Amino acid sequence: MRFAAIVGQKKLKEQLIAMAADERVGHAMLFYEESGFGALPMAIAFAQYLCCPHRSDGDSCGSCPTCNKFQKLIHPDLHFAMPVSSTKAVPAEKKPVSDSFAAAWREAIIADPYLTEQQWYEKIGIENKSGIIGVNEAALIGRKLSMRSFEGGKKFMIIWLPERMNQEAANKLLKLIEEPPPETFLFLVSESPENVIVTVLSRCQIFRLPPIESESLLRELVEEFDTDIEQARFWTKISGGSLSKARRLINESENSSIYDVYLANLLEGCANKDLKKVISFWEELSLRGRESQRQFCEYALEFLRRSLMTNIGSANISNTPDSSKEYITYWAAKIKPGFYPKAYDAINKALQDIDRNVNSRYIFADLSNRFFLSL
Ligand SMILES: [Zn+2]
Repeated sequence: MRFAAIVGQKKLKEQLIAMAADERVGHAMLFYEESGFGALPMAIAFAQYLCCPHRSDGDSCGSCPTCNKFQKLIHPDLHFAMPVSSTKAVPAEKKPVSDSFAAAWREAIIADPYLTEQQWYEKIGIENKSGIIGVNEAALIGRKLSMRSFEGGKKFMIIWLPERMNQEAANKLLKLIEEPPPETFLFLVSESPENVIVTVLSRCQIFRLPPIESESLLRELVEEFDTDIEQARFWTKISGGSLSKARRLINESENSSIYDVYLANLLEGCANKDLKKVISFWEELSLRGRESQRQFCEYALEFLRRSLMTNIGSANISNTPDSSKEYITYWAAKIKPGFYPKAYDAINKALQDIDRNVNSRYIFADLSNRFFLSL
């Protein structure tokens, strides 16, 4: 992956290029971001840049044999570790580690280096639990990095989501992170550095990725979704500078009809005290994957925002698509202003519970109950 393939992040690219030029690249660097700002592609592009013998104009060449191997993620000196868990194909007794899922990882990253944690879990079929980076993984990292470089140059270990590393694994890696073998680089890519074990964190040089610059994200969305500039500007604004969030919101708006059905069951069920509808809402939604559940919650928040804007006479700036106007206006007239803050709280709580892996049936039964009492 070349720097050119990363959306925006101009400053950090320049900073990394300058570090390479001065030969002061740290042996343990931690890049942190909010999901979708581009930290993982940045780490991969930087490794490729450091290895490409023909780099010029602030980027790797993208066409030499080294770059080719990096781009296919098959360079023998480029290693990855990421959170995994047991699955049907790799049961617990087989002691799952990153290598057990190497093919899925390559496929996922080549398809989309802005992969989210949730998408990864869905890809390997563990979407209802969290992966970990455990002690077997740490042992494997140690073994890989103690080997000589296959191609006689630098070696890289990219550890994605080190916040999923447990204490035992961290203890095993400390010495390696502190004093890696010569020409060996550990790049850690985190979305919540506050949850990285502190002894690991304190040994890393830390780089924060800011939200993607609006102009760059806007250009990307116009190109990727072939959308008009005003619509793209709206998605850019509400995505908070995250490419994955923008994509999710756009896809979700395309899939919105199923979320409309869920939302209608929830709202109508609660407003008309029709328990059957309410139960069908939470039973159906709890059967879906966590990513869909999260999308539904974001969708419901957006619905509330539009409804509230309509309610206070600002429908013209609510960015409501024509297809939803009638529906939103209907509910805006029906919902009392006091409901909005309670509904926001209830949905945000559901979002937090999804992240905390709380049982889905409980999450949406609880959400329904809160709506039922407040609407
Ligand atoms: Zn090259």
